[in-house]
Amino acid sequence: MTTNTLGLSTRCIHAGDSRDSLGAVHTPLYSHSTFAFASTSDVLDVVEGRKTGNLYTRYGMNPTIRSVEEKLASIEGGENAWVFSSGMAAESATFLSFCKAGDHIICIGDVYGGTFELLGQNLPSVGITTTFLLGSELDKLDAAVKDNTRIIFFETPTNPNMEVFDVRAIAEIAHRRGVLVVVDNTFATPVNQSPLALGADLVIHSTTKYLGGHSDLTGGVVIGSSKLLQPIWTWRKNLGQMMAPEVAHLLARSLRTLVIRVKAHNEGAALLARRLSEHPRVERVSYPGLPTHPQHELAKRQMRGFGGMLSFVVRGDAKAAAAVVDRLKLFAIAPSLGGVESLVTQPVTTTHHGLTPEERGRRSISDGMVRLSVGLEEAEDLWADLAQALEG
Ligand code: PLP
Repeated sequence: MTTNTLGLSTRCIHAGDSRDSLGAVHTPLYSHSTFAFASTSDVLDVVEGRKTGNLYTRYGMNPTIRSVEEKLASIEGGENAWVFSSGMAAESATFLSFCKAGDHIICIGDVYGGTFELLGQNLPSVGITTTFLLGSELDKLDAAVKDNTRIIFFETPTNPNMEVFDVRAIAEIAHRRGVLVVVDNTFATPVNQSPLALGADLVIHSTTKYLGGHSDLTGGVVIGSSKLLQPIWTWRKNLGQMMAPEVAHLLARSLRTLVIRVKAHNEGAALLARRLSEHPRVERVSYPGLPTHPQHELAKRQMRGFGGMLSFVVRGDAKAAAAVVDRLKLFAIAPSLGGVESLVTQPVTTTHHGLTPEERGRRSISDGMVRLSVGLEEAEDLWADLAQALEG
């Protein structure tokens, strides 16, 4: 089925799916590691690319994996997609595909702690360096691009301050200088934001989060043009980073309900952000949908919804914030996000624990900050839980 002209919900359900000879309504799970051929020449046709076919699961040449990749490409508006065993696998393969020893990456704003470690500690050991620019230093971007700069990488909205970056403006600078723009769209999801349409070259997701949506799978994906994805394929194959077919099948199941899930996450988070911003024990709330958010106007232009993630700062110190977190009953204290169940973390104890206090200070990640992943429970129940925890 050609799904390019269809709406997002329709693509979430139908793109990439096909019926088997038994009439199963969508692509079945092929958990097999290998696939048989009628003859040696048939094998060669597939190996040498004259025919498409299934070959070996670690290569991604498996119908369940190709099916979810086609669905993801369609949903994100890309030509093709490669899935991975995790979001970090997708990121590392992408960086290694476009950078060799001596090359340079620019990372803008806050990023997931693991990404910070990959760029700041792991990649320098193979000769790839990164300049980290704060969101407030975007005026220095052009000057930070060097002859050896290959990639500009960022999340938008960011973790945990929900800072929003102008994808179009960054892509304009990057492309003028011949540099690729890679956007981590995990927080926004393709329901709320389409970085490829805004000028990004590649989009990455931790599918562990909203795309999986039920806190029961770990995966990643890179989406973009077939040409840009080509070099990433061999890195994924030879680093052995393939998503398991069982996970790909589970991910496809989740993607079919992505639109209604994300819209409900958006609504719940908007309500909690509004109520929190009026609470006397809350110093500030970071949510792109609030008119007080510093990039609210940009978020309105660039996003179709503001997402299910928000953070707030409890008046007092880290202990006061920890006490609020500990009193919560419906929010589970857990470091992930994007599932149907609401989660809460104090970034200083989890996602940003690895940063020095100075670095956290520079990035406005205060000790009293609490991050919420607003789930799909009744929003009024979540508010009652937050209110009792704040008033404790
Ligand atoms: N990108 C973002 C924005 C994340 O929050 C995370 C993990 O929390 C990752 C990437 C890494 O994803 P994974 O845990 O699937 O490797």
